[in-house]
Amino acid sequence: MTQIRNFCIIAHIDHGKSTLADRLLERTGTISEREMQEQILDDMDLERERGITIKSHAIRMEYVRPNKEKFIFNLIDTPGHVDFAYEVSRALKACEGAILVVDAAQGVEAQTISNLYQAIEQGLEIIPVLNKIDLPGADPENISQQVIDLIGCEYEDILRVSGKTGEGVEDLLEAIVERIPAPKQEIDKPLKALIFDSIFNTYRGSIAYVRVMQGSLKKGDPMLFMATHKEYDAEEIGYLKLKKEPCTELKAGDVGYVIGSVKSLQDARVGDTITHQKNGADEPIPGYQESKPMVFSGIFPTNSEDFEDLRSALEKLQLNDASLSYQPETSKALGFGFRAGFLGMLHMEIVQERLDREFNIDIITTVPNVQYEVEINHKGERRKKTVDNPSEMPDAGKVETVWEPYIKASIITPADYIGPIMKLCQDKRGVYKNQVFMQGNRVEITYELPMAEVVFDFYDKLKSGTRGYASLDYELLEYRKGDLVRLDILLNGDPVDALSSITHREKAYEQGRKICAKLKELIPRQQYEVAVQAAIGSRVIARDTIRALRKDVTAKCYGGDITRKRKLIEKQKEGKKRMKQVGTVEIPQEAFLAVLSMD
Ligand code: GDP
Ligand code: MG
Repeated sequence: MTQIRNFCIIAHIDHGKSTLADRLLERTGTISEREMQEQILDDMDLERERGITIKSHAIRMEYVRPNKEKFIFNLIDTPGHVDFAYEVSRALKACEGAILVVDAAQGVEAQTISNLYQAIEQGLEIIPVLNKIDLPGADPENISQQVIDLIGCEYEDILRVSGKTGEGVEDLLEAIVERIPAPKQEIDKPLKALIFDSIFNTYRGSIAYVRVMQGSLKKGDPMLFMATHKEYDAEEIGYLKLKKEPCTELKAGDVGYVIGSVKSLQDARVGDTITHQKNGADEPIPGYQESKPMVFSGIFPTNSEDFEDLRSALEKLQLNDASLSYQPETSKALGFGFRAGFLGMLHMEIVQERLDREFNIDIITTVPNVQYEVEINHKGERRKKTVDNPSEMPDAGKVETVWEPYIKASIITPADYIGPIMKLCQDKRGVYKNQVFMQGNRVEITYELPMAEVVFDFYDKLKSGTRGYASLDYELLEYRKGDLVRLDILLNGDPVDALSSITHREKAYEQGRKICAKLKELIPRQQYEVAVQAAIGSRVIARDTIRALRKDVTAKCYGGDITRKRKLIEKQKEGKKRMKQVGTVEIPQEAFLAVLSMD
């Protein structure tokens, strides 16, 4: 029987996971040097540009040892970002081992730790690797000690490689064979295949990436998806090389793909178990979760005629991305649009960018918010409701109690920045838990924070306050009571629903004042004077005035220079692009995100 090794690479962003994967593909002859394109696993444009891996992929390699023994390696790539933690956990489940890559100059970072803990919990064999040892700033001795403190390995267990020069890659290939256990090859048991990823193809439907945990799946077999109870035939199965390579059977231990005219990604969900319709498994593989949106935002077409286009674009995106959810929303200010739910901020940015690029639709997005649980007093009767849109938060007088989601945040930083980080967390209503010192003057600080404060600008502030040195990871903790109110914004006395936000009562005044000032800056002068007010219920707590426009911009040109005049007119048009007429006032897109750009 062929010997198999299934593994993944876990690493903090930029520590060199993709580059190292490229070297493995090269050394095993999976791709020729001619085919070699940098970071071959990141095949979506957006991923390449941002240098991040959004969706996990898998690839099969054939490794021949110096003694001519042959092995099949399945490398399962995992997304590195906290928004995609569930996908990471499913990918880990498909492996027996993990290569832990740590940048030899940077050291252990927040995502190194969170993914590592998951891998250890699932019983994976860890191969610690220091990468980028070619860098002049590499400090392998100190960083080795960090790794030893972290996983309790021996100094000799830690490999030293360079994904750039290829140094140490042969030793790594041998370590994969020697240290990572072979998968159990229980072929006689009922079929259990774990879907660790799925993608949508317009012509073929959902393509599920699977790891067969037990039993075997043959081409043509009638399949049952255990969580969704859907039934399909395995029309095509195969291995994942650089391209898909059809085969007739996937056995326990194998990693491959399954195509069965599955109409949508909703039917072949990540984490689900595939079994046979007859004599199938009794129990699915444990740990299945439905993806749950954490961050919400309104998405509106800049031109109301684009509404149907926006709807069809979102439908198409959802085919590709089962974790995107949305429903129609009507805003008095912005008209017809959608309220979309995302796994996190990065996920939101990706969706917004794809709408813009792939579908070429001008959209206006509103400030992201989290989901609240609210108890209202309705004529003496108490009712609970879920609020994911600030404009739907009932007036303060009717609200009995509000609960908001809290996260546990783990921040790793050079010790010099402990002060600024604590101040930032305190400003964000954080509750200090503890701090642990690590080798090399670094600290892990743990805080419990309201998620609403983190989705705003926390990450940017953390980065700027520590010159980019601190790293952050978090997990959802629980819902807690909070003294929260709806802060409304009025333009010339009319509330603009899309500018409402939910804020802590103690912060409402400062927040209101800042939003008004920011809007004054962002909203261009109009023909009339515009009053900008912030209010809680009927009580105005801040006010600013945008004075009326005096002259046409081109009037400044004294009619002389015609090219300059034309440029100015072009510029004005440009600026108009993402304007929205709200009542009598023209508002630019940035204004709807004003809260995000305040400091
Ligand atoms: P990922 O985010 O973990 O996938 O990291 P990448 O593979 O995209 O690498 C991040 C950056 O580090 C890129 O600019 C790489 O060229 C660089 N890099 C990766 N490995 C090495 C290495 O061994 N040595 C040096 N000097 N740079 C490396
Ligand atoms: Mg990468």
